Amino acid sequence: MKALRLYAPGDLRLEEVPIPLPKPDEVLVRVLACGICGSDIPRVFEHGTYKYPLVPGHEFSGIVEKVGSETGKDWVGRHVVVYPLIPCRQCSSCYSGLYTQCLNYDYLGSRRDGGFAEYVTVPGSNIIPVPDGISGEISAITEPCAVALHAVRKAQVCVGDTVLITGAGTIGILIALWARASGAEVFMTDIVVEKLKFARSLGFQHLLDAKQTTVSEWIKQKCKHGVDIVFETTGHPAGLETSIESCGISGKIVLVGNPSFEEMKVPAKQYGMILRKEIQITGIWNSLVNEYPKNEWQVVLQEFKKENSLYSKIITHKVPIEGLKELFIAIYNKKVFPVKAMFINKEI
Ligand SMILES: [Zn+2]
Ligand SMILES: [Zn+2]
Repeated sequence: MKALRLYAPGDLRLEEVPIPLPKPDEVLVRVLACGICGSDIPRVFEHGTYKYPLVPGHEFSGIVEKVGSETGKDWVGRHVVVYPLIPCRQCSSCYSGLYTQCLNYDYLGSRRDGGFAEYVTVPGSNIIPVPDGISGEISAITEPCAVALHAVRKAQVCVGDTVLITGAGTIGILIALWARASGAEVFMTDIVVEKLKFARSLGFQHLLDAKQTTVSEWIKQKCKHGVDIVFETTGHPAGLETSIESCGISGKIVLVGNPSFEEMKVPAKQYGMILRKEIQITGIWNSLVNEYPKNEWQVVLQEFKKENSLYSKIITHKVPIEGLKELFIAIYNKKVFPVKAMFINKEI
């Protein structure tokens, strides 16, 4: 099979490798589609992965081709999505059901082989069936949609809330869709005009080029006392400052973006605003596949059934595996600005 493997930061190679064999607790998945996550760009070009060579890619869907043991044979032929975090099921977090907080987890696409290949083996306990009527491309965006949903649920967004999203990248856009679906009024900023144009094409009206105007002043004009909730998706110190300045009294800030700088310092002035306005700041990590309190992946899959055409607009770039390395390089060099770029397995 063909696989895109990373040998060192910046050293991606398209290779012919044997199709992996599933262990007794695993299944072999024939990949339908695998999205490039925002986190894959620094992973592939800067930080690297936990071992080499490794196939990146953690946002994928596929068809179960083979199972490692007889007991799972009913899965063969089924369309599935794969939860990328593999909990140890032995640590204190796992015993509490907090799998995303596992102290000794494995991860598809960063610690073991992921979805930028024609086939991948995954634990049987990580596959989730996809309802009929959803394409492999749409199901491959379940993971980022679930992360965005997790953020919106964590913030307890309500009808009538005002919400600011700093950064109109993939996760920012997906958070905007969930916040709008929850009845909130959405404000979004970015410094890339193309991203704001895309947000407008989805029907969002309150958009600001943060290079041109100070975000907090714009927010003050729109909502006198600041917004109820801010989602910080840029991971940039300026985004954090903007969030604090734009957040209203007793408001909430949800930190979503991975830090893109060595330090995420808060100046004393903005620090004082956190105190004075009694702002609640919280972080989010991954998404939930537990049935309790809510299986967010199931919620996403049901939403795809209702909003299929809306979510298909999110997928802006599609390539076969032969074009994947070039697409990675173009995104890294800021030659293209995909909302969601994807490898589509052309064998299908
Ligand atoms: Zn991701
Ligand atoms: Zn664990």
